[in-house]
Amino acid sequence: MTTNQKLFERAQQFIPGGVNSPVRAFRSVGGTPRFLTRGKGPRVWDVEGKEYIDYVCSWGPLLHGHAHPSVIQAVQASVERGLSFGAPTALEVEMAEKLTQLLPSLEMVRLTSSGTEATMSAIRLARGFTGRNLIVKFEGCYHGHGDALLVKAGSGALTFGQPDSGGIPAELAAQTLVLEYNHMGQLEELFSTRGNQIAAVIVEPVAGNMNMVLPRPGFLSKLRELTTAHGSVLIFDEVMTGFRVALGGAQSLYGIRPDLTTLGKVIGGGMPLAAFGGRRDIMEYLAPLGPVYQAGTLSGNPVAVTAGLVNLHLACADGLYERLGEMTRTLTEGIVEVGRDAGYPMSTCSLGGMFGLYFREKLPNTLTEVMESDRFAFNAFFQGMLDEGIYFAPSAFEAGFVSTVHTSLELDQTLSAAERVFKQLR
Ligand code: PMP
Repeated sequence: MTTNQKLFERAQQFIPGGVNSPVRAFRSVGGTPRFLTRGKGPRVWDVEGKEYIDYVCSWGPLLHGHAHPSVIQAVQASVERGLSFGAPTALEVEMAEKLTQLLPSLEMVRLTSSGTEATMSAIRLARGFTGRNLIVKFEGCYHGHGDALLVKAGSGALTFGQPDSGGIPAELAAQTLVLEYNHMGQLEELFSTRGNQIAAVIVEPVAGNMNMVLPRPGFLSKLRELTTAHGSVLIFDEVMTGFRVALGGAQSLYGIRPDLTTLGKVIGGGMPLAAFGGRRDIMEYLAPLGPVYQAGTLSGNPVAVTAGLVNLHLACADGLYERLGEMTRTLTEGIVEVGRDAGYPMSTCSLGGMFGLYFREKLPNTLTEVMESDRFAFNAFFQGMLDEGIYFAPSAFEAGFVSTVHTSLELDQTLSAAERVFKQLR
């Protein structure tokens, strides 16, 4: 038994499934998860000392790779000053100012410790503000594991064929209406009949939890138009896309101003930090100003905020997202070319440092189309690449990530590995 296998055996004795977040268990791809010990730049190492080029980047947060020297230095200095105060700090003010500068739709922000808390809180706030109950979400979008949002969700829920979770009262689930992503007709129909009961529409403006699905032209502006017309709150869940697809998030790429935005992942750069923010009149409904309660013992944690500020500072470098986008395109288009040469119909899309890779001829627009991709081919490709020391997300339904410290060296190594793997598969 390998060290990874032994650890996984031990883990399964005491942790459900051996993991603290389901997709980590490698259930859908098979095999043993790698227990990681160290990361540096674009690479990680497992307990057996095997090195991997990392395209998971902790599921998105590591925009600048592992253990970036500037981040580590700042975090070490912050740790020396104390881990948590449960009192306001200047760092939080700086973070709030920075976020509102970089995303003009944010007039006020509140920090939380996870993306789940951010989306849960945004939903509660939208309900409190509008005095309505109904929430609209889209099939295949994942917004964390809050009860109201774990209905027809993507990511791990989808990977395990459990898009609807047990333990959620039917009465509560009934308050969440689910539409097909990119389907404008369904949206119009729903708003024409129940528009004045809808508290909020929450959407991943670029969907990253059913692999990666781009919004069809006009989809996001239709959302904006209908929510404005009916007084519903439009929430962009940019936990994944924020500072990942562009400095101003997906909202800057598509030119849409949501009422509320949720952020996470990159804003903490690997530390537990997330946020929600938006229109001042809505945010002022939050306690202690308003009637909607929301709180957190560790919210705005100084070490996490320090890490986040350095990450955002680095993200502001001139031309950074153009270079990152170029790198990501070279990688994914390279893989697709190698795959097609080996006889696999494949397609890809990417924005900034986020990408989708499909064993399917054409890019999908909806969850149904995503499900038509060849999962078996993906699984075989995944295992082959893992053996070659290339670490992709262990599911056909996750987006991938390139960091600003991946170089042409990693890309070349990845593409030659892909050539060998596809040759074997054939
Ligand atoms: N929203 C989106 C779009 C996400 O991708 C995620 C996590 N992958 C979440 C919310 C939940 O964030 P967290 O895992 O930090 O709770």
